[in-house]
Amino acid sequence: MGRWPALEPGWVWLCGAGPGDPGLLTLHAVNALRQADVVVYDALVEDLILDWAPQAEHVYAGKRGGRPSAKQRDISLHLVDLAQEGKRVLRLKGGDPFVFGRGGEEAQTLIQHGVPIRIIPGISAGIGGLAYAGIPVTHRDVNQSVTFVTGHDQTGDTPTSLNWQAIADGAQVLVVYMGMKHAGRIATALLEAGRPADEPVAVVCSATTPDQTVLETTLGQMVADIDAAGLEPPAILCIGRSVLMRQVLDWQGLMAGAKPRNLDPLGRGRPAEVS
Ligand code: SAH
Repeated sequence: MGRWPALEPGWVWLCGAGPGDPGLLTLHAVNALRQADVVVYDALVEDLILDWAPQAEHVYAGKRGGRPSAKQRDISLHLVDLAQEGKRVLRLKGGDPFVFGRGGEEAQTLIQHGVPIRIIPGISAGIGGLAYAGIPVTHRDVNQSVTFVTGHDQTGDTPTSLNWQAIADGAQVLVVYMGMKHAGRIATALLEAGRPADEPVAVVCSATTPDQTVLETTLGQMVADIDAAGLEPPAILCIGRSVLMRQVLDWQGLMAGAKPRNLDPLGRGRPAEVS
């Protein structure tokens, strides 16, 4: 096993933990978990994952269960301190550290303080979470591009920096992170910008965990349906026709004994591979 990288004292590895299911960790993540002296982890990192680092101190650095949210700057500086104490530090973040995870900021601060780092990518909820719901984030008959959007910006508001008209005009399939709080504003912005009210939407909550729930709805009905179902974050919103593919690709439903609802949900009338 000599070729696996060693997590040396004084280093920080910023590592993605994937969307929840521990089986979606990378081998680099497991290698890091086994070597760490301290694991600094966020909300949305499952306890089952921390179990892979029984030797390490586990430090919580997120917002959960009413505990106050650590400020981002404080988290970054805490990582600097731990590294300067000579610890082997594993910073474990949900999904991929560089996708709406502020991993870039943490990495920059570490480097500014002379702390050596390694980045370990992870499976992002907006890709892997949708796959667990049976939704391919790209599908040849549907989209040649994907637009990833965050429903919050630094102010906690719907991102004012986003041009919703341009998104509505140009995004074939939209994948929205942190979209639950402002689901209503996002739906209104897209509808006002001309997206059809009957456009398919999936809301995938707690994807890849035992609590995964998937709501299939439309842009026009999304908010009412989310409320009626009492859905809670974390959730990914997927807006676009790829959602229809779940009618045939809901593999978890199939594993549980359901039959495919529709073998040809896009109405191609010919085999899947034939152009
Ligand atoms: N870096 C993470 C995203 C962090 S932002 C990644 O790459 O996945 C946090 C948001 O991610 C949540 O509000 C939610 O929109 C999404 N998310 C993370 N884990 C999720 C999960 N298991 N199921 C659904 N959404 C999830």
